[in-house]
Amino acid sequence: MAPGRRTAAFERKAPLLEAKEVQVTIGGEEILESASLDLRRGELLAIVGPNGAGKSTFARAFCGLRRPQGGEVRWMGVPLTELRGRKLAGVRAYVPQRAQVPTGVTVQAAVNIGRSTHLKPLQGLSGEDREAVRESIARARLEGFEDRDLSTLSGGEMQRVQIAVALAQGAPVLVADEPTAQLDLGATAAISKMLRELVSGGMGVVLIVHDLALAAAIADRVVVMSHGRTIATGTPEAVLTGQLISEVWGVQAELVHREGRSALHVEWLDQHQT
Ligand code: ADP
Ligand code: MG
Repeated sequence: MAPGRRTAAFERKAPLLEAKEVQVTIGGEEILESASLDLRRGELLAIVGPNGAGKSTFARAFCGLRRPQGGEVRWMGVPLTELRGRKLAGVRAYVPQRAQVPTGVTVQAAVNIGRSTHLKPLQGLSGEDREAVRESIARARLEGFEDRDLSTLSGGEMQRVQIAVALAQGAPVLVADEPTAQLDLGATAAISKMLRELVSGGMGVVLIVHDLALAAAIADRVVVMSHGRTIATGTPEAVLTGQLISEVWGVQAELVHREGRSALHVEWLDQHQT
């Protein structure tokens, strides 16, 4: 077959996403030295690490938004280099850390735009597309908000709109970069429950989050990043030990699990302060 004419064939049994030793250099500086992960079906994987560890850069690289200088990324077995445009939009939806909010756009219009990755140029939304949009709005708990202008929404509502826009894309994987960073406790809990519901429905979710306690509470597995490298992967219980937290964050802290709940106990102050 002629190069470039090959159509990507997804493998049903392959992990949803595999990234191996991804490397990113920006302006001569190696921002990502070596970052790896794999995402299974029906799994919520959290990428955790201090500010500046390279989490957002890694996510942008495996989502096909920044070309890596090295390593390999596969979505359902297909190399990322073979996926563009609608094909890429069909495998993963990406919610950026800092989204630009346009003015004069309603919630309904924004979610319609999310669905437009399915359309050919100048084609309108079909009945099936409209149903997908309605369902995305419902899953993001945004019924009743359809006619609201985006500029009038609270932080939590806006984040739910971004998730609805992503869901309307209909991809099996959602990658959300710090969706709760600006939110209060109630809104954070609402987003967390929503992400768990998506996973229960069979989607894969990659959650980039600097909040360790949140990651420990809602993730099936965590990937820890430090200084541009992924240094540990596994269940929160296995990975987020006092020693690792001390090494990566420089803080004395312990993850405590009790009756299905987990909490992060932090020594905020030096115990021997006088
Ligand atoms: P995180 O999301 O873990 O906080 P980032 O991936 O945003 O980390 O950034 C990792 C490092 O790369 C930081 O030191 C950041 O300043 C740097 N960096 C990220 N993007 C760029 C860029 N476009 N140009 C220069 N430096 C960048
Ligand atoms: Mg970031």
